[in-house]
Formats: sequence, structure tokens, C-alpha cells
Amino acid sequence: MLKVVTLHPINATGFSLSTSPHRNITTSKHHHIATSQHRHITTSQHHNIATSQHRNITTSKHPHIPTSPHPHITTSHITNIPTSQHRNITTNMKPDFEVGIIGAGFGGLIAALRLKHSGRQSFVIFERANEVGGTWRDNIYPGCGCDVHSHLYSIASEPNPNWSQLFSAQPEILAYLKNVVANNQLNPFIRYNTDVVDIRFLEDSNTWQLTDQHGKTTVVKMLILATGPLNRPNMPVFKGLENYKGKQFHSSAWDNSYDLSNKQVAIIGTGASAIQIIPNIAPIVGQLNVFQRTPAWVMPRRNRTIGSFQKALFNRIPIVQKTIREIIYWIRELFGLGFVGNHFINKLMEKSVLKQLEKEVQNPNTRAKLIPNYQIGCKRILVADDFYPTFNRPNVDLITDSIDHITENGICTKTARIIPPM
Ligand SMILES: Cc1cc2nc3c(=O)[nH]c(=O)nc-3n(C[C@H](O)[C@H](O)[C@H](O)COP(=O)(O)OP(=O)(O)OC[C@H]3O[C@@H](n4cnc5c(N)ncnc54)[C@H](O)[C@@H]3O)c2cc1C
Repeated sequence: MLKVVTLHPINATGFSLSTSPHRNITTSKHHHIATSQHRHITTSQHHNIATSQHRNITTSKHPHIPTSPHPHITTSHITNIPTSQHRNITTNMKPDFEVGIIGAGFGGLIAALRLKHSGRQSFVIFERANEVGGTWRDNIYPGCGCDVHSHLYSIASEPNPNWSQLFSAQPEILAYLKNVVANNQLNPFIRYNTDVVDIRFLEDSNTWQLTDQHGKTTVVKMLILATGPLNRPNMPVFKGLENYKGKQFHSSAWDNSYDLSNKQVAIIGTGASAIQIIPNIAPIVGQLNVFQRTPAWVMPRRNRTIGSFQKALFNRIPIVQKTIREIIYWIRELFGLGFVGNHFINKLMEKSVLKQLEKEVQNPNTRAKLIPNYQIGCKRILVADDFYPTFNRPNVDLITDSIDHITENGICTKTARIIPPM
């Protein structure tokens, strides 16, 4: 029995096939089509499709292939399927590799390292982009960096004794991942620019068949999905956004070519990425309007540069860095008790944030707006050293009115406040 795992959103088009070999065939699921051009097409999902009759299928010839019996095919992926790559699809496929990994971010690379370190060589990594890194390749916004100590936010078997800071920035984390690939000769295992668009479990052979954007199929015995939790930006839906005439982009698609200097800028959201962006653009923009829906609990990060003596120590006596990693791990686990009912630790954390707020934000109204009305830990706790002080700047405004709609030049709140004022 064939199982289908859909990877891409689907848009179904019409139901009439209009090209010559398909004239007048209008069935929803193609049961038992036995025309001369389609020998061997049986049952609902096309077992044993003989590729020879499908040479050069192009969307122009099949603009109305109904996607409903083919949930994983979007017409945009049916272009010139080269027969050499489109093998007969059967349910008993000999695997090309023992393990297939989708994604070359932290997750996929760690899986590959474990396989390699366990002596396995029969694996392949599919990466839709032209380089590794996932999150740390795609997010390049100002201030982008990790909020977990780099000694811990790194791969246990690949310590980096040369981190420049306790909490490293995006470029350094990306470079670290590339070094991991180079140091462990992982590149030969990675298929770059390969987007897996279809996954089928072939029960007869207990194998997985993966199809990429070119229609090329690969069969693996075991499949590791390391496609990442956050690599598809969640675009908010605002009334009128389509009419906005100014420049707009999502933090995960930062446009470094756009100069923000002296501009009127609105940033919508005060989550993990926003609290890194806000302090880094506030000094260069003309006016920064920060739209906050829910305030976050923001604990101090206490980031600092790691000096040459410490780096030398980590290089010469690796156990020192390993021990620091363990200590950081257990301290975080201790704080974790606060999330599972230990009110003392919870209160301790809340108190430290409120003390920081009291110390760092001068305006009492702004301070009050930044205090969450929920228990710490209910949402991701954020860490930053420079977020709260940013609200003391004259060109930064914290807006907590909810957004009603977007206008051609700005934002209108539910209280009919137009920002920036006309
Ligand atoms: C800005 C930002 C900062 C963060 N900071 C931290 C932090 O400080 N600490 C922390 O613990 N976590 C942080 N996170 C969470 C972060 O996502 C994880 O820590 C980690 O990087 C996720 O790694 P991953 O390999 O699972 O996924 P990603 O890093 O998302 O990698 C997934 C990879 O899979 C590829 N891929 C996806 N689908 C396909 C497909 N169909 N075919 C082929 N390739 C595909 C993508 O191109 C990508 O390269 C942060 C996330 C973001 C966005």
C-alpha cells in the first residue's frame, strides 16, 4: 500500500485534460486508464507508470492536470521530466542509500555526523539552498545571534574553542557550521539546490522514495526529516497591506541593500528576532515605531567578548570548555524547573526581569507596557542586554494599540491613530 507525505501547499486547478492524447477524458481520479499512450496506468495513484510515454511532460501540455489525486504535485513542479531520472515507480524499490536526511541546518548536520562517526557511509543530505546553515544562513538581520551560550549552542562532538563572544552572532555561527562540514568531509554527502517535494513510504520494501523539484527520485531505507521549525516565515495578514507603498520585508528575508538611515520605520512584533533588531537599527533610523502585541519576559544576556587567554585555554585544555558547557547546561536545566511548577525559581526570574526594567527603562508608562501579564515561561523567555534601554531614545516609540489596517504610507490602529501621523 502506498502512503503519500505532502511537503508543499497545494492549489488544485480544473478537471479537464485538454491535450491531444487526453482529449475528452474528464475523470476525477483516472481509474483504469488504458489508452495507447498510457499503458500500465492502473488504480487510483498510478502504480507502474511507464516513463517512456511521459517523455517531456510540460505544464503547457498538461495545464489542467487535476492535482487532487496527486496532492504532492503542483503544476509548477511538472517541467520536462527527463525520463532518465523518472524511474518506474514501483512499491518494491532497492534503496539507493541507507539513510536520507532532508535539511542541512544544525539538525541535519548533527544527524550526518552521528552516522559518519558510527561508521556509516551510505547516506545523503538533501538541501534546497546552495549552502548549509538553515536558520543561520537565512536570517541575516542586524543583531542576529544566538540567545543560548555558544559553548552550549554548538555540536557536542564539534567544540569551537575560538568563539569570539559568549553569545555568537549569525555570521560566526554560519562559519562554524561550514567548518563542521569541511572538517568532517560532509560535502560529498550533500545535494545542494535539491528541494524534496514528495515523499512516499513504499510498504512492500519498507523504503522511502523521495522526489526532488526536477522529478528525480531517490530511495532510502531510513528517513530523517531535519527541515527545521522556523524556516518558513509566518507572514502576518493585515488588512490593506497590499496597498502599502513603502518598503516592507520579513525579518527572515532582511534586505541589506535597503538603507534605513533617517527613515520612518515601523517594526511589528517584539519577539526573539525583533528584540535583536530594534537596538541595532534605532541609532540609524529617523523614527522607530515598535508595535507590541504581547510583551516578552526579557532576561539579561550578559554577553561579552571571549579573550585570547580563554581561547588559548580552550584550545590547549579542551576539557575546560567541555566543563563550562556542562555547567551552562545544568544551570539552564535548573531554571527549567521554574517552568514545571517550581514557583520559587519562577518568581526569582520574574523579579530579576522587573528589577532590570526598573533600572533600564526611564519612562514609567513605557515600563508598564513592557511588563507581561502572564507567568514567565509561558512564552519563549528572551535574552538581551540592549533591548530595554532602547526605549529611552527620543526616536523610539512603543505602541501597544492593536493594528486595525495598513494604509498606503503607514499603520492605522484600532484607536484610529495613524502612524506616522499624516
Ligand atoms: C533568527 C533565529 C534565531 C534563533 N536563535 C536560537 C538560539 O539562540 N537558540 C536556540 O536554541 N534556537 C534558536 N533558534 C531556533 C533554530 O531554528 C534552531 O536552534 C536550529 O537552528 C534549527 O535547526 P534545524 O536544522 O532544525 O532547522 P533549520 O536551521 O531551519 O534548517 C532546516 C534546513 O532544511 C532545509 N529544508 C527545509 N525543507 C526542505 C526540503 N523540502 N528539501 C530540502 N531542504 C529543505 C532548509 O533549507 C534548511 O537549510 C533560532 C531561530 C531563528 C529563526
